[in-house]
Amino acid sequence: MSTDTGGQQGRTAYVIVGGGLAAAKAVEGIRESDSDGMIVLVAEENRLPYERPPLSKAVLKGEDEMETAFTHDRDWYFEQGVELRLGNPATSLDAEQHTLTLADGETLSYDKLLIATGSTPRALDVPGADLDGVLYLREMQESEALKARFADGARIVIVGAGWIGLEVAAAARDAGCTVTVIEPQSAPLVAVMGEQVGGWFADLHRGHGVEFRFGEGVERIEGDTSVTGVVTKSGDTVPADAVVVGVGITPNTGLAEGAGITTDNGIVADPALRTSAEGVWAAGDVANWRSTTLGTNVRVEHWANANDGGLAAGRSMAGQDVTYDPIPFFFSDQYDIGLEYAGYVPRGSGAEVLLRGEPSSNEFMAFWVVPEGEGVRVLAGMHVNVWDTIDDVQRLVRDKTVVDRGRLADPKVALADLT
Ligand SMILES: Cc1cc2nc3c(=O)[nH]c(=O)nc-3n(C[C@H](O)[C@H](O)[C@H](O)COP(=O)(O)OP(=O)(O)OC[C@H]3O[C@@H](n4cnc5c(N)ncnc54)[C@H](O)[C@@H]3O)c2cc1C
Repeated sequence: MSTDTGGQQGRTAYVIVGGGLAAAKAVEGIRESDSDGMIVLVAEENRLPYERPPLSKAVLKGEDEMETAFTHDRDWYFEQGVELRLGNPATSLDAEQHTLTLADGETLSYDKLLIATGSTPRALDVPGADLDGVLYLREMQESEALKARFADGARIVIVGAGWIGLEVAAAARDAGCTVTVIEPQSAPLVAVMGEQVGGWFADLHRGHGVEFRFGEGVERIEGDTSVTGVVTKSGDTVPADAVVVGVGITPNTGLAEGAGITTDNGIVADPALRTSAEGVWAAGDVANWRSTTLGTNVRVEHWANANDGGLAAGRSMAGQDVTYDPIPFFFSDQYDIGLEYAGYVPRGSGAEVLLRGEPSSNEFMAFWVVPEGEGVRVLAGMHVNVWDTIDDVQRLVRDKTVVDRGRLADPKVALADLT
């Protein structure tokens, strides 16, 4: 079947591929300045677009209903004049002909197309990884499946001490499970946080009863049909009723690659989120966009980038003059800890970590700084339970302000006074 969505009666035909937050926000961005363009939203999952952060937090802990994660209800898409193609993934894109083919054979023509296909969890490639009870966490049903395993006393083994691993560990401990985390590095989140702050995360979780196996890998997963244990590379067997794999994600670039669109750790996009193909934009986890402020391309796998980037892409598609230039931002909640991080620390930057406040109080800030002039320049900053500070962190990063390191580290000096 071919659906001619292209340019009817002068109306622009928009197609949005991907059913996540970036896709939903793109609709809002388009409608800001184009109230009658035709919009078709194509999603692989057979659900309305939803937000993923609650899947490892309030929803997983049973504090919120799954329904609260939906970005908008079905009526909203109807009111916005959006045609939904749910549970029907795009299988190929012809960027020359401006056509998109869906799994059921339908072909959509477009004037402007957004790729917001997100990312997919990396699979654990060891014997036994296909046993029942080896779980990933990206989609709603996976959060439900995991929650169902959280019976009091269940033995949960988590592979990977990244954000997903740590948030699942916190939720599992809240539910009374026994939790072991296996991580090849020497601390959680070492690549982003460094040893010192990573060590604080380890202490936080140990204080809540989580056991870590650092410097350790998974040799195989044992069980008959269901998982019973994880055999580590050093030969230990950790008993398990469920194994949660959180070893990173890869951007879903297949559609773009098939269409000859430039990719490099995601779909390469300019500051208006335009890709190398005329009429095609990219946003969210899948986009590796040019940051004007940072002077480099960045791909950000976090909520704010899907929210703001989706909106920006929609605006850009509808003809607004857009420079998408946020300071990368993310947040996390674990136990009674809330944290926010803003900035960008390139690999090999040699950034030093400067602490402000005492980490053991669970109320502190950390800054990733490089020396400059008489002081230091902030590449990134994070607060743990020190609220209303992240705007100042973003300002310091954006303005490349050179600050005195003693004053930056002193909680008595207001961040707003650091100029
Ligand atoms: C459990 C969990 C917790 C998180 N918690 C936090 C947090 O606390 N803080 C934070 O900042 N970030 C968090 N994140 C990250 C954040 O949710 C993501 O950055 C965000 O979901 C990215 O949105 P997106 O729209 O780009 O992609 P996605 O949310 O991945 O959505 C992309 C959608 O496109 C669909 N798709 C893929 N290919 C096709 C195709 N060919 N055709 C049609 N559809 C397709 C996919 O099925 C998917 O539904 C979390 C992520 C997860 C999984």
